Amino acid sequence: MAKLYEIYGTDAHSMTVSLMQAARVSKMIPPGASIALKPNLVLSGAPDTGATTHPGVLSGCIAYLQSEGFADICVMESSWVGDSTDRAMKVCGYDKVCENYGVPFYDLKKDQTRRVQTALRPMEITCRSLDADFLIDLPVLKGHCQTAMTCALKNLKGCLPDREKRRFHSDGLMEPIAALGAVLKPALVIVDSICGDLNFEEGGNPVHTNRMLLGTDPVQMDAYGCRLMGLRLEDVPYIQLAERWGAGSTEIGAEDVVTLNEPTEGAEYPAASGLVKRLTRGVQAESACSACYAALVRALYLAQQEGLRVPDKIVIGQKWRGKQLSALGVGNCCSGASDCVKGCPPTPDAILNCFRDRA
Ligand code: SF4
Repeated sequence: MAKLYEIYGTDAHSMTVSLMQAARVSKMIPPGASIALKPNLVLSGAPDTGATTHPGVLSGCIAYLQSEGFADICVMESSWVGDSTDRAMKVCGYDKVCENYGVPFYDLKKDQTRRVQTALRPMEITCRSLDADFLIDLPVLKGHCQTAMTCALKNLKGCLPDREKRRFHSDGLMEPIAALGAVLKPALVIVDSICGDLNFEEGGNPVHTNRMLLGTDPVQMDAYGCRLMGLRLEDVPYIQLAERWGAGSTEIGAEDVVTLNEPTEGAEYPAASGLVKRLTRGVQAESACSACYAALVRALYLAQQEGLRVPDKIVIGQKWRGKQLSALGVGNCCSGASDCVKGCPPTPDAILNCFRDRA
């Protein structure tokens, strides 16, 4: 089974270098290989919000690779539908890291795509992701309002053009995430778990767990992430599905985990709060895009803080398109509802203002 390396601390740059040295990453990469780094820049949120990969992970990774003589390195990402990758990379300080190390950054929203057969169906995937000789996945371990958690496998969704991301939601997320993982199969995964938000993909409530992980199997890394967050594999169905489709193995033996130092204060993961489940009790979601659903969950959370009463029936998602409904609709797809917050996606503020107006 693959080895999994774990380190505690708060200095993302030096932790990344130590992990890569311990795992002897340079020996895994063929000489002259093109190396693509895929962080999580889901939206324009600073890493200390718990949403995005710390720039220190990026700088540590590039510094290590360059010190080992690798020159063909790039950084690539596509933020979620509705946000600008360019803005996100600047907010996270990636522009400075790329400039300091002389490494190009590519916005995958602008990349060409190829149609690739997967275990589920043909998919449009960006060429840079498909053509890299050595793909390094740099996810954040955090919660997700639709899939319970996100780490190595789900981070690969940023290798898609926006139209394919939307289709993932129509397909119910789990199967396409697993199928994509089996096609792209990153050669290396370095997980930023220094301060992920354990409920919301878009951050806002970071939990300091002061830890990073490195491994070569994205399925194993996700299975380990589940364990850390107190989730069962069944809570995140795409993980075992990815295993079935050949993306890796969920098995983790005690001897597979190599711990490089002692845990620091704050390294424990609090038990799953079930917050999102409670907030979305009255929501009927059918193929809702991440940005849309996250905006609704955020608005519901803020409404709860304000003590606002929210509508009993809220609909959201692409499958409601063209349907007449007696409910509050969220997003343009639900414009057939009796009342609707417009936008694609709408902002949390717009949804919250609607709750306020109706209270
Ligand atoms: S309105 Fe529809 S298409 Fe637009 S973000 Fe929301 S669910 Fe997706």
